[in-house]
Amino acid sequence: MKETKKILPLVKTVCVAVLIAVAVLALGLAACSPDEPTHKHSLVAVERKDATCTQKGNEAYWKCEECGKLFSDKAGKTEIDAIPEILSLGHHTEWTAVDNQTHIKKCVRCDYTEGVAEPHNFEGGECADCGAKKVVKPYTLSEDGSTLTFGSYPQSQVEDTALQSMLNAEIQNKTPTADEFNGWTDYEYLDNKIAKSYMWYIDVEYQDALYRGVYLSQYRPYSSTTNCSPSNTYQLNNGYETGTVYWFEYEPITWRILTQQDGKVFLMADLILDSQNFYINAYERTGESTIYANNYKESDIRFWLNHNFYDTAFDELCKEYVVVTEVDNSVETTPREDTTYICENTIDNVFLLSYADVNNEDYNKGDLALLSTAYADCQGVWLNFYDCGKWWLRSPAADGSLPASYSACMVNAMGADSVEAVTSTAVGVVPALWLTL
Ligand SMILES: [Zn+2]
Ligand SMILES: [Zn+2]
Ligand SMILES: [Zn+2]
Repeated sequence: MKETKKILPLVKTVCVAVLIAVAVLALGLAACSPDEPTHKHSLVAVERKDATCTQKGNEAYWKCEECGKLFSDKAGKTEIDAIPEILSLGHHTEWTAVDNQTHIKKCVRCDYTEGVAEPHNFEGGECADCGAKKVVKPYTLSEDGSTLTFGSYPQSQVEDTALQSMLNAEIQNKTPTADEFNGWTDYEYLDNKIAKSYMWYIDVEYQDALYRGVYLSQYRPYSSTTNCSPSNTYQLNNGYETGTVYWFEYEPITWRILTQQDGKVFLMADLILDSQNFYINAYERTGESTIYANNYKESDIRFWLNHNFYDTAFDELCKEYVVVTEVDNSVETTPREDTTYICENTIDNVFLLSYADVNNEDYNKGDLALLSTAYADCQGVWLNFYDCGKWWLRSPAADGSLPASYSACMVNAMGADSVEAVTSTAVGVVPALWLTL
């Protein structure tokens, strides 16, 4: 017991001595530090900056505003001796599509390109390098660049009797009557201004080709104001009779390139494709303002072109390439000197050429005496001895052409300017349009 009591004061003494020694040592060390004992770092954060292809970046760090020292942490515990840089990445190029035809080596991160654009490396429907899908343009330019094919329309007649039989079998040899169409579609052609069921068509796909059957139970009059009768038609003259199914093959439409502008081409059909009246009758419509029978904006043929023709000739892809056009119907496009019969401009996909168009010396029109398709012949187009037809223009007839109020301009079978009463169903249709290349 006594010994224990003796040891305790000794332990106390040793502890105090150690504490003093530690304190002295600490003070001594502080006094030896190169830092000003009073400096407290004033740290400012420098944000992380990503490197780019060509410029280096940096990690986040902190810098003392006063002493300039750098630290990798906010608390200023880990000092670093230089800005923590991130090296520039360098470009990483891959084949990238420029347009439907070409690709170029382009950096995936920036706009840098290497070398020049080259044609796609198509294998099947895709570019093996950039993956671009092969875009099939819906038109084909001729070798000399003067025409192109675009869209399709029933044109040549099927003469092969075996094929005729196959097509007739496809429709189970059924023909339409006024009471029972049997799957056929009524043209709703006129019999003295009244639409009647006497001529029909039916479209049949057979072995990857499309055909149109046409059948008539009465003859289509050459004027919308005339009765159906074998003596009032050109269908018989052209070799088409009632009670027979005629088959026509949908074929690519050939267009003449009249002119080219800003990646677009102005086209007119190379053949007379159909036969339609300009308007149903010769009388003007009276209302707030008089609409004359030769008013293109309010005409039947304008509607027919933008509905019947447009939907028959062009699939969805083709339609994407047809330019919606403001059609100039001003007096300058007509042979007239006054504005009596002109109409407002129209916004159309397909239209008729104007008088000014066919007289424009800058257009590559070629011979304007046009041949017709067999399909147009079957519709009852009038043909001359050389099988050329006449075809509508959209312009009202010139002053002095009698009677101007119900006559529209046309090109006659000799290829010359002429006029015709709007009610004629025997004048051919030569559609025109602007196409995006
Ligand atoms: Zn500092
Ligand atoms: Zn780059
Ligand atoms: Zn490519």
